[in-house]
Amino acid sequence: MKRISSTIKTGIVLWLVLSLVPLAYYFHLKDKAHQFFIAHLEAQGLQFLSYVDSKARRTHSQIQQTFYELSHSSLLNDFAVNRNPQFRHYLESQWYLAAFNSTLFYQLRFIDNRGYEVIRVDYMPNMSHPYVVPNDRLQNKSNRDYFLYAQKLANGEQGHFGIDLEFENDKPIIPYKPGYRIIYPIIANSVRQGYFVANLDVMTIIEQITSNTQNLNVDFIDNHGYYIISSDKNKLFGDLIQSRSDNNLSLKNGEVWRAIQQNQSSGNSVLTDRGLYIFQRFSSPLFGSQNTLTMLTMYPPSAISGLLSERTKQLKIEATVIWLFLGLLSIIIAMFMDAFRRIKADQTYAEYAIENSMAVVVTDKNMRILRVNTGFCNLVNSDVSLLHGGNIIDFFESQTKQSLIQRQLSIRGRWQGHLSLHTTDNKEVICQTEIHAILGKLKNIQYYVYSFTDISEHHNTIITLKERTERDPATSLWNKKKFDQNLQYQSRLKQRYANHPTCCLAVLDIDSFKQINDTFGHTVGDEVILYIANQLRMVLRDTDFIARIGGDEFAVLIQHTDLEKAKALMQRVTTDIRNWTLYDVTISVGLAEVTSDANQTFSNADQAMYRSKRKGKNCVSIHGQETLNVLESHSP
Ligand code: GH3
Ligand code: MG
Repeated sequence: MKRISSTIKTGIVLWLVLSLVPLAYYFHLKDKAHQFFIAHLEAQGLQFLSYVDSKARRTHSQIQQTFYELSHSSLLNDFAVNRNPQFRHYLESQWYLAAFNSTLFYQLRFIDNRGYEVIRVDYMPNMSHPYVVPNDRLQNKSNRDYFLYAQKLANGEQGHFGIDLEFENDKPIIPYKPGYRIIYPIIANSVRQGYFVANLDVMTIIEQITSNTQNLNVDFIDNHGYYIISSDKNKLFGDLIQSRSDNNLSLKNGEVWRAIQQNQSSGNSVLTDRGLYIFQRFSSPLFGSQNTLTMLTMYPPSAISGLLSERTKQLKIEATVIWLFLGLLSIIIAMFMDAFRRIKADQTYAEYAIENSMAVVVTDKNMRILRVNTGFCNLVNSDVSLLHGGNIIDFFESQTKQSLIQRQLSIRGRWQGHLSLHTTDNKEVICQTEIHAILGKLKNIQYYVYSFTDISEHHNTIITLKERTERDPATSLWNKKKFDQNLQYQSRLKQRYANHPTCCLAVLDIDSFKQINDTFGHTVGDEVILYIANQLRMVLRDTDFIARIGGDEFAVLIQHTDLEKAKALMQRVTTDIRNWTLYDVTISVGLAEVTSDANQTFSNADQAMYRSKRKGKNCVSIHGQETLNVLESHSP
């Protein structure tokens, strides 16, 4: 349960970290989309402005053509000279039709040299058809600035006046209305007869050339930042009316104004908080404004966000899908990480388990060494590379013991006990050993794991201690206790096996030892005891058992020897001791054959020894043989 929650925790942390990827993805692509839509709108805006420009050019040539035809008509020339009412009527009809057809002129007039309107046709946007103004309503325009301007025109020169405010009866028309006049002097008989003046309907023309399906507004800005033409009339006349002087782009939107100033020549755009502004030089000669105006249109922020919203929605879905996918991936990675951690921990644990204070060996089922740890290398004084592939049995002292171990392993799966190992430098190490058989899936033995603990020192200490309890400290011969055990053992062998080889017991006692002590002191007495012990060790075989069983009393168990041979051996001992040149020492010996009764055996030998004493000491007596060659034993 804990493991699952830790995996989930890791997964969540990973997920949180990886969540940055869809976030980055979303913001990056949103930014890209934003840039794309801006570029798209910019291109679209510039396209629109170019369209306005070309439409203005067409409108201009249309106006120009009509104006030319009217201003150069011979009818007008003739009328200017003779003021024939019939001609007047023709002219009014011609102008009526021209105004009606073009819809771009809201006044067509002939003004005489003094400034009086002679003929005038009005066609205001609110009129259903043109209106020929009657004579009594014609006005004197001699004081108007455009008339003064007209008087300065050279013969044959077409003049443009405006754009300015429209006046009627010397008062500006309210609401303010932009006016623009094209003026041409009428010359007849080489005399200036007056002026043909055409007022253009600026707002209608602007509406015509700027009309579009996207409802985009266009402002026409002059080189001082004033709105000369605009879809929004409230912005106009900053240059003409003092109270409107703040209708200036540099004041209304400095950021855009600066951008226009920096990009005078070509069209460009600027993105501000208020929207995307696109501008381009107005190259059409319409309104006589060639290259003096800049067209400016704008997409509001809502237009950009409107375009973006669909893409943003789509990006959100994509980012969410990526996010969910990364979530799944995080959980899978977390599970892998967890599994990897566990495997690593197991490996570390296994490494630790094998590299402990014990010497460990892993073999295959044939005892071939697969793996050893440093402990084992140190134990047998060898190297890992030399050990791998070798057979563990080669290190065992006893091959027979190995087959016993093998049997137990096949039955119980484990074995425990002491094993003696041969090291490569020919030493013997006693080990507390545990062997485990590792079974495979089919319950057959696949590996053996051996663990050895070196107990040599401990073992030797025990042996030394044990020997100490069984040895006589003065002579290092076995003591009485050990002698009793051994005699008991020999008797049991005799009891169990009828044909067990003969074994004899000799009991030896130093003659008149008290006297030696008394004469020479205890130190010499001790020296005598040690001498006799060494003599026994020298004469007897390794397999014979020699013990000191009392103060001046010794016992010997002589293996595989009958009484006669034992007697000869004891006589040799007796003789050797007697021949000691340092002190006069003799011993009395009693011999008996070991029987199945240990006590009886000892008693028999002891009695025989006493018989030797009684017979004068320094001789060997055999239990059950009354006659003893005393002289022989006494002879030097
Ligand atoms: P016998 O010939 O009848 O055996 O006479 P004995 O003098 O040897 O008499 P016994 O065997 O009874 O005396 C043994 C003496 O050995 C008694 C004791 O003082 C002495 N003795 C026992 N153990 C030691 C020992 O370790 N060192 C010495 N120096 N004397 C010992
Ligand atoms: Mg004695």
